[in-house]
Amino acid sequence: MKPNAIYRSVVILLVMIFSISGCKTHPEEITFSRTSFVLGTVVDVNLFDHGSDELLDTMEARLQEIENTMSVNVPSSEVNLINDNAGIKSVQVSDDTYNVIKKSIEYSVLSHGAFDVTFGPIVNLWQIGTDQAAVPDDQSLAEALALVDYNNIELLDDNYVYLTEQDMRIDLGGIAKGFAADEIIEIAKKAGVESALVNLGGNVKTLGLKVDGKPFNVGIQNPFDMRNAYLGIVSVSDQTVVTSGDYERYFTEDGVRYHHIFDYRTGYPVVNGLGSVTLISSEAIDADALSTALYVLGADEGTRLIETLDGIECLYVTYDNEIYVSSGLKSNFTITDRTFSVVN
Ligand code: ADP
Ligand code: MG
Repeated sequence: MKPNAIYRSVVILLVMIFSISGCKTHPEEITFSRTSFVLGTVVDVNLFDHGSDELLDTMEARLQEIENTMSVNVPSSEVNLINDNAGIKSVQVSDDTYNVIKKSIEYSVLSHGAFDVTFGPIVNLWQIGTDQAAVPDDQSLAEALALVDYNNIELLDDNYVYLTEQDMRIDLGGIAKGFAADEIIEIAKKAGVESALVNLGGNVKTLGLKVDGKPFNVGIQNPFDMRNAYLGIVSVSDQTVVTSGDYERYFTEDGVRYHHIFDYRTGYPVVNGLGSVTLISSEAIDADALSTALYVLGADEGTRLIETLDGIECLYVTYDNEIYVSSGLKSNFTITDRTFSVVN
């Protein structure tokens, strides 16, 4: 199977597990569920206490709208319009795109460029997740890396965005799914839903409690076992659980795994002994950007950063089956696979 096919089947399995684990026998539960493929990933929506097909349609249309404006894979997207005019002129975009870029810059600043929304030229070069994925030559890599610098994005009045260097490109792949999860949960909430779970390719967001009044148990994927095995669970309500890992999208060449999260120092996929990092917070946009940032920062620096932020927790899994959790998560994380252990 190609990496993308593996990725998809893993996500589909995850989705199945979530559906199975919902308490279908509970009399008050009226589940409205839908699985679609948007934003380059499998999206699973479950409304547990209340819903309709029209509401699912509205949520799906919102996802499609976000993809159409923010995806680099949609040629006419606003992000591509900004990119195509890099070094030429500023481009006026929607509030959504403007605000997501603004948030991206905030996280680029906070992580000192570990998360950098201008990674577009590097993402393009590696083509990870496509049939063309290959290790680039050194010169192309150096040229692409020289274009990565979030300081060269200008956010102007009236939603105008300007990339000051020619061939610069922004890429919202590390944050857009988080924004999308927040948006569709908000739509459900406004429609009166009190219990819901959405899963955008492993980015989970929950609304309220399960219909039995208990929090949702969300499994943390074992990054080394593609058979959809969990290593532990966290209990959440009105929160999001977002994971970034080297197993999500990758290709293998000469026995080396090249995955989709890049190191700003080298332009190569990050190599730091980490299987994954999971972020738990109330807003998925924060968790998504931070999961990418924390993967790049590594366990020590990443956990230190999280301890300075309110209401956000993290959990790292290393290749040695060691788990590092931030202080606020210790009482809410249960290991289910004893080959792993919390070491801090
Ligand atoms: P996923 O999309 O699998 O949930 P992430 O949220 O970690 O995973 O985002 C990875 C995506 O973010 C990549 O596919 C790429 O588009 C983009 N990206 C890769 N490296 C970085 C980085 N250092 N900073 C910002 N974005 C990145
Ligand atoms: Mg991310």
